Amino acid sequence: MEHDVGLAPRSGQRAAGASAPGKVWLVGAGPGDPDLLTVKAARLLASARVVLHDLLVGEGVMALLPEGARRICVGKRDRRHSLPQEEINALLVELGAAGEEVVRLKGGDPYVFGRGGEEAVALAAAGIPFEVVPGISSAQGMSAYAGIPLTHRDHASSVVFATGHCREGGAGPDWAALARPHQTAVIYMGLGALAGICRQLVAHGLEPDTPAAVVEQATTRHQRVVCGTLLTLPVLAAAQDLAAPALIVVGEVVRLHGTLGWFAPAQARPAQGRHPLP
Ligand code: SAH
Repeated sequence: MEHDVGLAPRSGQRAAGASAPGKVWLVGAGPGDPDLLTVKAARLLASARVVLHDLLVGEGVMALLPEGARRICVGKRDRRHSLPQEEINALLVELGAAGEEVVRLKGGDPYVFGRGGEEAVALAAAGIPFEVVPGISSAQGMSAYAGIPLTHRDHASSVVFATGHCREGGAGPDWAALARPHQTAVIYMGLGALAGICRQLVAHGLEPDTPAAVVEQATTRHQRVVCGTLLTLPVLAAAQDLAAPALIVVGEVVRLHGTLGWFAPAQARPAQGRHPLP
């Protein structure tokens, strides 16, 4: 198979006497719409035998797996019921060491807030061959489908991706860096802390009337976009009862949603011969 051509096994790092390792592909599943998979990801999914996936991976993408593929769900929507990251790493290493060819399917891009880096380090340390297949990160999917360009010559000359979810006891986001003018900030995993995030951005220098939006389930037929300002967004979002997965986007570019928001999910119907949207 074409996709078997990749990293040569690094036998020097393997325990002597171990059976020949298989291989792990860390694959980005994109933000939801299966049409946004890369050709390489779609090809790997079509021939997958063992798949470890997060709950974030949309149904439409999962539907592309062969019927007989073994599916192992390692992430629940409720974080408390997810397999701890160390166990996911260990499972990947174990399967790889046992000679399995494993697709590790992750929402968006594996290396954008996906902990793919930790999994790749574990595989490298164990001498298990791996490849990483990039995916469209939800910020990029959101940008295209909500009509909110991440940069624009008139509005934003830089873009920053940040997480609103911090490790227990860990340092919070660098608010001053997020609150720069002429910049777009996209905040992942921040919906639960929306009011505090908006407050901090104003406290660190952004005007309270800076445009801001929450985009829920971007690129899927359930996509919802709620636009406001740093002052009004928390109340507007609460009124709509928005839920994860959702992104917060802050900056002048949010104004363009009204003009560029071409995607009308309520009317979205799968065209003939195409995969249904998740
Ligand atoms: N690796 C992923 C991010 C994983 S962290 C990526 O590149 O997109 C999980 C967070 O991603 C969610 O809490 C949410 O903030 C965001 N997210 C993922 N899919 C999304 C979607 N379809 N719409 C909006 N936000 C999404």
